Amino acid sequence: MGRLPNPRRSGQEVEKAVWQALETVSDPEMPGVSIVALGMVESVRCRGTRVRVTLLPTYAACAGQAIMRQRAIAAIRRATNLEDVDVSWSLEALWSAEKVTPEGWRHLLNLGIGQTLNTPAEGQDVVACPYCGSTDTVLQSRFGPAACRSVYYCRHCRNPFEGLVNITRFFPAPATAGE
Ligand SMILES: [Zn+2]
Repeated sequence: MGRLPNPRRSGQEVEKAVWQALETVSDPEMPGVSIVALGMVESVRCRGTRVRVTLLPTYAACAGQAIMRQRAIAAIRRATNLEDVDVSWSLEALWSAEKVTPEGWRHLLNLGIGQTLNTPAEGQDVVACPYCGSTDTVLQSRFGPAACRSVYYCRHCRNPFEGLVNITRFFPAPATAGE
């Protein structure tokens, strides 16, 4: 009250700006869908003028990792005016389709990517057809146009479509980093 606003932003404000910046970053293989909506942001840590972000890798061979990291760093620097920004890929946790937000699924549906309805622990993926919503679908090919996508076929409307690959299915949890 009666005091000038503190020119130094609180950690919370910086953190908010970082999340907003991350909302503008997308996986080059899924244009228009932010890495936040895809559930790829594991953590954001802001301390003083230092920002550290950890992302969850979707698929180890995904070619977009280096690009996404660079885009995220650039977006955060622009949004916060901070230089000490680093973004790294988690070595301990893996992404899975259940982390995608409802908004993320809406965008993916527009790209012709069906929603994965089960968690990796529940066995074979059940993927709903993005065109008719049917779950009478079969995996046709593990390898789609990108390493992180598979091709499915809908037996109901007879359309092929893509689904996301749950990385945990193909790679056991990586050994904890350290030593
Ligand atoms: Zn269908």
